[in-house]
Amino acid sequence: MDVQHILLVILSLRLGLLDLQASAVKQEEKESMPSGPRIAIIGSGIGGSSCAYYLHKLLPNAQLSIFEANDRIGGRIMSVNIEGVIVEVGAAAWASANQYIMELAKEMNLSIFDAKPKLPRTDRLDLLLNQQSALSIGVWDGYALHDIEKLVIDNLKSTAITVAEIAEFLLKLKLNYFQREDEGPFRNITEYLAYGKLTEYTSKSTLQYLSEHNVELELLKYFIEPLMIHIYDQELDMHSFAAFASLTSLLTSAHSVTSGNSKLPKALVNASKAEVHLNSKVHTITNDNTEYTIAFTHDGKNESITTVDAVVIAAPLEWTGITFKNIQPDPSSSQPHRDWVFWYVHFVVAKSINNTYFHQPDQWSAPDNIFTTANVSLPWASIQLYQPLPNSNIYKLFCTQNLTTHMDEYFIGVRSVYTHHWVYTFPRLIPITDPEDFQDIQLHDGLFNINTIESIASAMEVPVINARNVAQLIADAVNRDYGYDTYQNDC
Ligand SMILES: Cc1cc2nc3c(=O)[nH]c(=O)nc-3n(C[C@H](O)[C@H](O)[C@H](O)COP(=O)(O)OP(=O)(O)OC[C@H]3O[C@@H](n4cnc5c(N)ncnc54)[C@H](O)[C@@H]3O)c2cc1C
Repeated sequence: MDVQHILLVILSLRLGLLDLQASAVKQEEKESMPSGPRIAIIGSGIGGSSCAYYLHKLLPNAQLSIFEANDRIGGRIMSVNIEGVIVEVGAAAWASANQYIMELAKEMNLSIFDAKPKLPRTDRLDLLLNQQSALSIGVWDGYALHDIEKLVIDNLKSTAITVAEIAEFLLKLKLNYFQREDEGPFRNITEYLAYGKLTEYTSKSTLQYLSEHNVELELLKYFIEPLMIHIYDQELDMHSFAAFASLTSLLTSAHSVTSGNSKLPKALVNASKAEVHLNSKVHTITNDNTEYTIAFTHDGKNESITTVDAVVIAAPLEWTGITFKNIQPDPSSSQPHRDWVFWYVHFVVAKSINNTYFHQPDQWSAPDNIFTTANVSLPWASIQLYQPLPNSNIYKLFCTQNLTTHMDEYFIGVRSVYTHHWVYTFPRLIPITDPEDFQDIQLHDGLFNINTIESIASAMEVPVINARNVAQLIADAVNRDYGYDTYQNDC
């Protein structure tokens, strides 16, 4: 062995030794690393599932547990199969301006499709909206069906103003995303709205906002209001943030997950590695100074208890039925209460619409979307052609009453009816001028409330905005405890 060779062997041995030492140090570091915080998330809707996902990204060491009262993940996102077609019983689509939902679908590798009806016609409304997505709409006032295309053409100036206002709202919304990402997490809804100057939208009713911009009452009553009734079961007294947030899909594309929207919360929960407790309704949260005790029933019977460092409530506070102990002020009485609307959602497989119901002759071809005006007391808010099938169609109805046994009134050749009753669909989105009228994001040290943000709009993106925010607030607090820098926007 020459000298050079001997030196090489010594060098490689030393390197090996160093490697061994390095891995021993790494192992030691790992073992001495504090185990992550224990975090309970109550609710597995898009708010809870995305919060779990963001928390796992920010705090990979965290021990996450999701408690879900239902037997399935998804909350108000629910996809079911009717005659081989995946239909959306809850949230059906999101606008492409909904940046985080777009990102999450991509990160979960879910294929999405343009869910806006693309019909083989280009009318002047399409030209105005600069796209080929004819909205074949009729508005039923209880006596007659109004031609929306004619209404829009008759009120072209008001339509143009509305379109311009939606475009301005979209710009401000974009600004809100940018500014927030620079500034870090927000601590209350007023702070959220300040970015992009969005407060003027939540403080004014849709009627007030658009009237102040000289939009004619006729367009408001026969186009905007019927759309709001269809989307939110609410009228023009609803604040203009919610109205504009839903109208953005007129100008942008709208998307759904090809295999059903409920795949999204499921994928997020899987990716979060959280421990999931289905059929587990949390009934009491007790604060024991440094930690929280969560008491829940499993399958409606066995009482179970778990202890955690932080709790995220990802469900409307009004509907959780949770009792808070040793938490002052008590969130169940001190937080503002929102009124809620509810719906029966029906999917009907039938040959066609019953023209007689709409006082129309046999040869009449019904519009694909039939909405209603505010001054009509009907048990349904909208009837939509959801999917044509060979020799029949799937129709979707939003109703304020259970119409399962009344479908022969509305349709010819009814083959089947699927019904789902949502106990709550949306909060009443009344204008809010006093910041105190928003529920708090942080209810107590380590106790968070995601759903407060639904007071600004009831859409999938909205709880995700706050889920991401709450995950960042928790990560910042944890990092502060360990002396790390806070807010790195790693979501
Ligand atoms: C019919 C309908 C149509 C819609 N259409 C659209 C649409 O097209 N586009 C759109 O973007 N949005 C739409 N939405 C709104 C959207 O679905 C919601 O805004 C959003 O899904 C709310 O998510 P969330 O996680 O905040 O609440 P939820 O989805 O309500 O989730 C809360 C979860 O918490 C659980 N929970 C409650 N209390 C407890 C407890 N004590 N213990 C354990 N678990 C508990 C509930 O079971 C539920 O699963 C629609 C909603 C409905 C109902």
